[in-house]
Amino acid sequence: MDIKANLDAVKKTFVNPSCLLVAVSKTKPLPDLMAAYEAGIRDFGENKVQEIMAKQPEMPSDVRWHMIGHLQSNKVKYIAPFVYLIHGVDSFKLLKEINKQGKKINRIIPVLLQIHIAEEESKFGFDRAELEEMFASDEFKQLTHVQIKGLMGMATFTEDQSQIRKEFHGLKQLFDELKQKALPDFVQLEELSMGMSGDYRIAQEEGSTMVRIGSAIFGSRG
Ligand SMILES: *Cc1c(COP(=O)(O)O)cnc(C)c1O
Repeated sequence: MDIKANLDAVKKTFVNPSCLLVAVSKTKPLPDLMAAYEAGIRDFGENKVQEIMAKQPEMPSDVRWHMIGHLQSNKVKYIAPFVYLIHGVDSFKLLKEINKQGKKINRIIPVLLQIHIAEEESKFGFDRAELEEMFASDEFKQLTHVQIKGLMGMATFTEDQSQIRKEFHGLKQLFDELKQKALPDFVQLEELSMGMSGDYRIAQEEGSTMVRIGSAIFGSRG
């Protein structure tokens, strides 16, 4: 596996060269991460708390650790001190727990809200009604130790490119709509995390600012 060559190939096919590439290194061993690091990658994405905790102390300190998977509330405390961005905040309960853990260690934790855009039932995330309910609540306005930097979404796992495009397009529309809304100061909608190995070009065409790419860089995960 030539990780540097893969990275070059991925970068070359970016529709938007200023889109941030988060290298998704889940299940991959440290030498693979170091190969990406040496090729210039500083943003790494992991989806398991145990794994991100094991890798973090072993990698250079300027790595930015992105938690991209579903996160259980009872595990937030382990990553709160070092996580750069939590992409998958999919419930108000989880957001409140992140706020609570941030408060404990006096750190404002950057997060993205995960929006349910896929057809599959199984994909996590807020729907529009849940989002609006949360925004309207007093409890939300009183959060002090989170910063909401944007939205994240995963398209349906399908060959149907028009379906994927439609879902990303819908997420971008929601993003633009929310940016017009009067929301508390800790909501700064700048980032739109959408796109993986199979669909990052469509995602970039639809306005993604961050793509989370694993297998196209590190190979399949067996
Ligand atoms: C695994 C994963 C990715 C990367 O998937 P690839 O298809 O390997 O690029 C992106 N986002 C999330 C949330 C993931 O869990």
